[in-house]
Amino acid sequence: MTPPTRMLATPVPFARPDITEREIEAVVRTLRGGWVTTGPAVAEFEEEFAAFVGGEVYSVAVSSATAGLHLALEACGIGPGDEVIVPTWTFTATAEVVRYLGAVPVLVDVDPLTLNLDLAAVEGALSPRTRAVVVVHFGGLAADTAGVADLVRGRGIRVVEDAAHALPTHGHGELVGAARHSDAAVFSFYATKPVTAGEGGMLTTRDPAIAERARVMRLHGIDRDAFDRYRTDVAGWEYDVVAPGFKYNLPDPAAAIGRVQLARAHAMRDRRQRVADWYLREWADLPLELPAPAEVGDLHAWHLFPVRLNETAAVDRDGFIDALAARGVGTSVHFIPLHRLTYWRTSLGLAVAQFPVAEDAFSRVVSVPLYSAMSDVEVERVDSVVREVMTS
Ligand SMILES: *Cc1c(COP(=O)(O)O)cnc(C)c1O
Repeated sequence: MTPPTRMLATPVPFARPDITEREIEAVVRTLRGGWVTTGPAVAEFEEEFAAFVGGEVYSVAVSSATAGLHLALEACGIGPGDEVIVPTWTFTATAEVVRYLGAVPVLVDVDPLTLNLDLAAVEGALSPRTRAVVVVHFGGLAADTAGVADLVRGRGIRVVEDAAHALPTHGHGELVGAARHSDAAVFSFYATKPVTAGEGGMLTTRDPAIAERARVMRLHGIDRDAFDRYRTDVAGWEYDVVAPGFKYNLPDPAAAIGRVQLARAHAMRDRRQRVADWYLREWADLPLELPAPAEVGDLHAWHLFPVRLNETAAVDRDGFIDALAARGVGTSVHFIPLHRLTYWRTSLGLAVAQFPVAEDAFSRVVSVPLYSAMSDVEVERVDSVVREVMTS
């Protein structure tokens, strides 16, 4: 590897949130309003989010996607002994929520092109104890939720979408979150995600029972509606508790950020699309596998831009990461597949040979910077540094 031709004056970080004066003013307004926990901003955020994904869903704001996935599976009745199918190609949160409920995640391999769930692998993992499948829209590319729904129809198996990367993402012409083929979809507003609130999440569902259960369980199992139903003279301090719930509510200052970000979501995606198009065009001749685009007419959220280095490349994954770092370009790896992590490997008794596609991808995959706050100068730097490292 040749030494860097020039050190960059300002490094290009792997990710940077796209925060404007509008988000800052919205938080200040909320703080001046004096309401700092869950309140009117959350109610408005929920309403706007439901409208954003098509208006036919209930939406429940939560403190994280992890919390939302936990609530979704809890509301689906997942419990001890149940099996939940989860792709190995995801973040640990997708599987840990299954454990929260005493259930067993059954990890499956992914499709080599998209790194999303492989329907044949899901079919092969079905057992009489299977109670749910979690679909992850990796990197912001829609997975085949409808295909999973068709596969499990009539078997009493629930489908939950981990949409942490998918805002906004289209699959078959519909925004992820419309939840037409799933019991619920869950989004993340973590700092690095395409729409951020600092921290936070949103659950969407067409099922009023799931929405109601998630609302009750996100705040200590307090059921004010059920209480009000039997009393007309309820005092403000009275409430009932119907289950040992959780503390998963979203505070108003976070919702204020989220509302502005949601209004900018399509514009921010458009910017990421332009950056992705740039990389796809410029790197077509390099010895690496570029990420799959969305189906014609669909939107890719482009949360991530994962490239897979070819075996013939002069540099391997770790060498590529080091060479980019030496030239001031941040990278990351999405994902270390779950079956490689100590807890999952040992508690589920897994071997790498069970996941040939994920293993091959993991040995070659690197995510390069792609976010709406990138300047053209930064995109050009990433482009030229990647070209320099791949062709030297
Ligand atoms: C980030 C992420 C989560 C968790 O999101 P939080 O809001 O941080 O809880 C879940 N699943 C996937 C695939 C993620 O990337």
